[in-house]
Amino acid sequence: MIKSEMASISVRKIILLSLALMFLLGVGVIASGTNINSVKIILSNNYELNVLTNKTKVEDILEESHIVVLPEENVVPDLESDISETKKIVISKTLQEGITAIKLSQEDAKVSMEQLLGDYTPVVERIIVEQVPIPFETITKDVSGGSQNTINKVITEGKDGVKEVTAKVKYQNDIEIDRTIINEVVITEPINKIVQVDKSSVTSRSQTSRVANISLPTTTTNSSSIAKSVAGKTPVVRKFNTSAYCSCAKCCGKTNGITSSGKKATTWCTVAAGNAYPIGTVIYIPALKNKPNGGWFIVQDRGGAISNGKLDIYMGTHNQALQFGRKTLECYVYM
Ligand SMILES: [Zn+2]
Repeated sequence: MIKSEMASISVRKIILLSLALMFLLGVGVIASGTNINSVKIILSNNYELNVLTNKTKVEDILEESHIVVLPEENVVPDLESDISETKKIVISKTLQEGITAIKLSQEDAKVSMEQLLGDYTPVVERIIVEQVPIPFETITKDVSGGSQNTINKVITEGKDGVKEVTAKVKYQNDIEIDRTIINEVVITEPINKIVQVDKSSVTSRSQTSRVANISLPTTTTNSSSIAKSVAGKTPVVRKFNTSAYCSCAKCCGKTNGITSSGKKATTWCTVAAGNAYPIGTVIYIPALKNKPNGGWFIVQDRGGAISNGKLDIYMGTHNQALQFGRKTLECYVYM
């Protein structure tokens, strides 16, 4: 029993001593704690950290926090300063003249140079007016009828047109950097070069059918709805013995103007053709492109004297029909 009591006392003593020691240590910590500061450090990469330190000199605090100041870095306040008042250290990169702190990739560097130029070189804007050629096109008309021996004959020599272009041009260091076309005026239209591909031996080709290998009437003449109805189709080019008629008794033996198609004939639209050309066939006659229909006709009629080599164009009056007379015209037939 005595032995165990003795043991119990010594345990109590150890506990008390321990408590006393802990108390003393605690006081010590609290005592030294009065000198501990929380200091904010902002690094050059904008990273912020707070350190607890009992040091007050900038150099010591940084050393304690294992922060190394690089030669190109700047510390505020300086290393010798005391920060017990401000409790803040800022490390930033020093920008020295001629040295770019940030390493740029080549592309970035280029952009950066452009931006720098943009910042420091004024952009000059001028309105310029200049004459620009409009290149002519070469149109090939194949009238060889598929012959092996062909000869190219220039029907019309090509000539470039001219247009006057007004543009707003931006210059920097006398180098054009931007151009906006404000206006374009055609001064002279280009004249297209027309080349005819013909058989090398001369033969009559008045009735020769062939598939047109030419540029078709352009949109400028394609304004009528008839033209639009055949847009994209390739016509057969054929020469017709062309005449004109009206709705009088002399021309038709009747005067009602009703065509074989059952429709009333229309001036500068209706044409009578042979049975090879179905009612509704569209025919373009380039020689008549300046007429009210732009040269576009529809086969809407037949006639006793109208063979497949003939076309009869419907006119408003008998006089007009007489004036038109009879001529051989090249026609584009949209079958
Ligand atoms: Zn008549």
